[in-house]
Amino acid sequence: MYRTHNCGELRAENAGQTVTLAGWVQRVRKMGGMSFIDLRDRYGITQLRVDDSTSEEVAAAAAKLGREYVIQATGIVEERQSKNAKIATGDIELKLTGLKILNEAQTPPFTIEDESDGGEDIRARYRYLDLRRNPLKNALMLRHRIAQEIRKYLDNEGFLEIETPFLIKSTPEGARDFVVPSRMNPGQFYALPQSPQTFKQLLMVAGYDRYFQIVRCFRDEDLRADRQPEFTQIDCEMSFVEQEDVLNTFEGMMRKLFKDVIGVEIPDPMPRMTWYDAMDNYGSDKPDIRFGMEIHEITPEAHGHNFSVFDDCEYVGAICVPGAAEYTRKQIDELTEWVKRPQVGAKGLVYIKYNADGSFKSSVDKFFSAEDLASIACAAQANPGDLMLVMCGAKRKAQTMLGVLRIEMGNRLGLRDPHNFAPLWVVDFPLLEWDDETQRFYAMHHPFTAPKPEHLDWFYSDKKEDLERVCANAYDFVLNGTELGGGSIRIHEAEVQKRMFEVLGISKEDAEIKFGFIINAFKFGAPPHGGLAFGFDRVCALFGGQETIRDFIAFPKNNMGRDVMLDAPSEIDDSQMEELALKSTVVKNG
Ligand code: ASP
Repeated sequence: MYRTHNCGELRAENAGQTVTLAGWVQRVRKMGGMSFIDLRDRYGITQLRVDDSTSEEVAAAAAKLGREYVIQATGIVEERQSKNAKIATGDIELKLTGLKILNEAQTPPFTIEDESDGGEDIRARYRYLDLRRNPLKNALMLRHRIAQEIRKYLDNEGFLEIETPFLIKSTPEGARDFVVPSRMNPGQFYALPQSPQTFKQLLMVAGYDRYFQIVRCFRDEDLRADRQPEFTQIDCEMSFVEQEDVLNTFEGMMRKLFKDVIGVEIPDPMPRMTWYDAMDNYGSDKPDIRFGMEIHEITPEAHGHNFSVFDDCEYVGAICVPGAAEYTRKQIDELTEWVKRPQVGAKGLVYIKYNADGSFKSSVDKFFSAEDLASIACAAQANPGDLMLVMCGAKRKAQTMLGVLRIEMGNRLGLRDPHNFAPLWVVDFPLLEWDDETQRFYAMHHPFTAPKPEHLDWFYSDKKEDLERVCANAYDFVLNGTELGGGSIRIHEAEVQKRMFEVLGISKEDAEIKFGFIINAFKFGAPPHGGLAFGFDRVCALFGGQETIRDFIAFPKNNMGRDVMLDAPSEIDDSQMEELALKSTVVKNG
């Protein structure tokens, strides 16, 4: 037996017992004739003591120890002279009677402490050492706990966990596929699933009316802000359900997770907001409702004052930043520069200070009288002391810019406390999204999302305005300005699916090639069904009070999609290329 206890387990009650521990040497401290060794494992740290009563052999072995050596330590548990309230085992130490070095260790390239001295890159290269640190260990333990609670909840609700394949054909999420060449079928490729979307729908056709899977998904996207090329979804589907059933089931799951994992009560029922309200009031389909500062339209008040910037725009809107009327010129100039950054894309920013004494000062004083500004303030629901920030443009574009600015002001004013949780459902998404560049419609969610039955007339209309009005029974679970999950009620009638492909400009032949199997399956009795998927990594990160998912994934990739520890992706040798019937067009260096 390597150990009788772990390093986080011993307490004052164990005093007098002879025990054996095994783990890594966190640090060795020499104090006079004594030395203290902190021994670490997954469970905690226990202090070992070497003093003048320690046998020569054990003391000699102890003298050789360095950081991260793996040892087996036997000793007698004793109550400590000076206790350490910071660690669970801080009341005791082990008076060493036996010590065996199980393995030596090179000095690690960075300190294995909660705050490491290692930069991101070096820690990524030695991920297995980084994973020894508490913050990462706690993140992975949290991830484990959440996964267990999800399984428990869904099992209780009658869901079956069913695995689906990774080597498949393109799925409909609309990102770029990762592909895998097939040796046995030269010149042909599998695609890795962007999600198990088509499989879960086929499982519904097969009669498995409640399915879930905690499953890896693959999307070859540019890794903007905190994305991973492979990530994990909590993927679910249900038959014989309407939107309400799906929302209730998963609201229940999230409520239980919040309560059981982090002890947070979320509102019952959770708030819901239509996509239209979210866009109009928050300029985002994932509104952060931890704070107000909503967007208000002021187009009627802004138009007609010979200020062509406003007059030429479809939409003028404002947010009111509380208490910011006192901003200096410099602060406002800085904000103006900020909104011109490509991430926001504004041409400029108009400000109106609603001073505490009720007077106004604005960057458009030349065009607007105090009375005009007062009517804008009224429309924007401003209070004395507020700074109104105004942007204009095409409606959705201007709202989106104001939404980005709103989030930034929320950050600056400290209104986005990561330990405050404000979830909501965003519902009634438009089914389709028009793209000016390619002059065609795209599915806002994916092409299997059903139009609302009451909008079918518009769905079958040939007019662009009608099609733009069609809503879907599609929903997103949004938390603190982040989309944590989303799904929809699906199309289950071959006729409607056919029309959907037509609207999306996918030819009959193309639809047949890409999704023939599912169109075919629908001919054999598809039940009404719907579902959703949550981003599991992100659920974990938010529960952990962190913004980035990387720490919640044991072996993540960097923002170039590289695993720097494995040095992947990498080239393969010529024989392998040949076997796979591949030819590279990349000229190798040298
Ligand atoms: N497959 C969808 C996604 O990954 C989720 C769903 O519709 O269930 O976004």
